[in-house]
Amino acid sequence: MNWQTSVRRLPMIGDAYASRLKKLEIATLADLLYHAPSRYEDSSKISTISRLILDEWATVIGKVESSKNVYTRSGKQIQTVVVNDDSGYIKLVWFNQPFIIKQFVKGQRVALAGKVIETENGRSLQTPQYELVRENKPLIHTGRLVPIYPETAGVSSKWLRSRIYPLLYNNLVNEFLPGNVLDKYNLPDIASTLQTVHFPKTLDQLESAYQRLKFEEVFGLQLVSQLKRREWNVHQLIQPLSINDQKLQEFIQRLPFTLTGAQQSVLKEISYDLQKPTPMNRMLQGDVGSGKTVVAALACYIAILNGKRVYFMAPTEILAQQHYITLERLFTPYKIQVALQTGAIKQLKQYKFVPDVVIGTHALLSDSVKLDDIGLIVIDEQHRFGVRQRTLLRTKSTTPHVLTMTATPIPRSVALTLYGDLDLSIIDEMPHGRLSVKTWVVPHEKRQKAYEWMIEKLLKSKGMERAFIVCPFIEPSESLATVKSATAEYTYLKTRIFLKLRLGLLHGRMRTREKEQVLDKFKRGELDILVCTPVVEVGIDIPEASIMVIEGSDRFGLAQLHQLRGRVGRGETQSYCLLFTQDETTGNVKRLKFMEKTNSGIQLAEFDLKVRGAGSLFGTLQHGRAELKFASQLTLSDVESAKQDVNKLLSTDPHLTRFIHLKERFISGTIAEIAPD
Ligand code: ADP
Ligand code: MG
Repeated sequence: MNWQTSVRRLPMIGDAYASRLKKLEIATLADLLYHAPSRYEDSSKISTISRLILDEWATVIGKVESSKNVYTRSGKQIQTVVVNDDSGYIKLVWFNQPFIIKQFVKGQRVALAGKVIETENGRSLQTPQYELVRENKPLIHTGRLVPIYPETAGVSSKWLRSRIYPLLYNNLVNEFLPGNVLDKYNLPDIASTLQTVHFPKTLDQLESAYQRLKFEEVFGLQLVSQLKRREWNVHQLIQPLSINDQKLQEFIQRLPFTLTGAQQSVLKEISYDLQKPTPMNRMLQGDVGSGKTVVAALACYIAILNGKRVYFMAPTEILAQQHYITLERLFTPYKIQVALQTGAIKQLKQYKFVPDVVIGTHALLSDSVKLDDIGLIVIDEQHRFGVRQRTLLRTKSTTPHVLTMTATPIPRSVALTLYGDLDLSIIDEMPHGRLSVKTWVVPHEKRQKAYEWMIEKLLKSKGMERAFIVCPFIEPSESLATVKSATAEYTYLKTRIFLKLRLGLLHGRMRTREKEQVLDKFKRGELDILVCTPVVEVGIDIPEASIMVIEGSDRFGLAQLHQLRGRVGRGETQSYCLLFTQDETTGNVKRLKFMEKTNSGIQLAEFDLKVRGAGSLFGTLQHGRAELKFASQLTLSDVESAKQDVNKLLSTDPHLTRFIHLKERFISGTIAEIAPD
């Protein structure tokens, strides 16, 4: 048995439970043992029956005196058991659980935890937690700090406790972290860590146990990504590109603007990578409008000057078209052929020329499309591409340089952890003269005023300005409840508030055709206000949109709010973002107020990471939830020290031959993820 053993094969689990456990994302022994309690119930203090206090939660231990099952006149069944300790008697009551009676044999010692209530026949514990007391068998459901787990239908905390407990005390789990690392941070070994996490003796013990879980999570992610990186570098030697500095500078000179300092420095990082004999694997991060496209275009130009071709991929056709227009304008003067490949044009063969740059969506990955000499692949909004798709892309021919771009503000610590195999470049400066979006957190009493302001502004603009009203997610995914609330809000606003304006509705459950129609109308100015759920296309570029209203903004992470806000402020006019809240507690408002102060996505993301943990970012990331289970409050120095430890380890033992348990814990079973993606 090892960490990757399927739960199916564990004692007392089997197929039926294995499939229920899947809902909790538990598939292996490791998943089960790392299914940490969400809280602990303290029933460690054992009371004597005579001293029980009415309405209090109490734990008692006593002997079964009698038990019976009674039918009521209405046909229900009531189970009563009488238990005594040396001080007195108490009655236990259950409803319609006749099977319970069998366990309460006269003379059996039992432990009970529940609320003390008063009935006609004296005091009793109603539907208490119970557990039989046996010689040499510790209590796990009562009489201690009792773990309460995230549960699912058919998998109760009680069930989990009784399955997890024996696994913890059978020497099943092998320490996998190197001893010197444990010593260095003074971390407990894995067996005692897990024993503590599930069955702590005191709450104080939990801190160092969770410290370890947090550390090993970061360590494991670093290990996986550094192995990927090493593999990438060792096996993928390529012909380095050379940089024709004169031509590059000419190109830059002829741009209609001068590059910002940030653009120049990321260009330097990229150029450096391109001249190496190993493929670049770099992520370029920068807010919407920070000018990533031109940087990517310069990288393309370098590759093309070296006789290579380039793929340029966007997540949607609309974005692909936008890039096509931009790049064609930039490249045509240099006799560089740019082609657009979308779903509509099936095969590249149709082109009369061989393009230097092919722009498209992930349709570019289809097998029918193949170009030789791909030197560089640019992927816009990389987190919207699945890992599998990226794998496909890179295995098409020899490994090219890969530049991924994202507007999602990811704090460096999180990026280093989740994308540790990528190098990171950040554009942290906006081009000159950009108007920043004015943001206000609007208190309840000013809502009406805000609506009036919008009406006046939109009417005055005579269709030249538009507004988004984003309704919050009621549930994490775009569920029916979310759609319903957006629909209801739309009807309300249309019939009660914005009678003089033209409103449209957009949500993820509409058909593609319908969505396109609404968006087109909004673009053309036939609608003034678009009421929508947060799934509005990231890429939609509507320069006339100048007002962004976000309902229930307290439910969003700041990074996500920032992305929503990024949909306005793309034109010449001053734009505004109004944040309405549901919950006006001070902490909440204070957090949102930070939106008023800064327009930097990365600063907002860093702030939220500190205040709310990495969970606040997951609305903007496609993954990460499972990876950062314990290390939510991640700091850069945590990540950097783990990175150094991993580096040291791998430079002495690159194949982990001396660390089989480490390999087994983090690597076997995830081979697919390890293969350079
Ligand atoms: P994003 O980073 O969101 O992809 P874009 O690359 O689309 O941003 O750039 C947004 C706009 O800013 C484009 O119209 C682009 O031409 C312009 N731009 C890019 N760099 C500069 C600059 N240094 N100065 C002025 N405008 C710039
Ligand atoms: Mg862009």
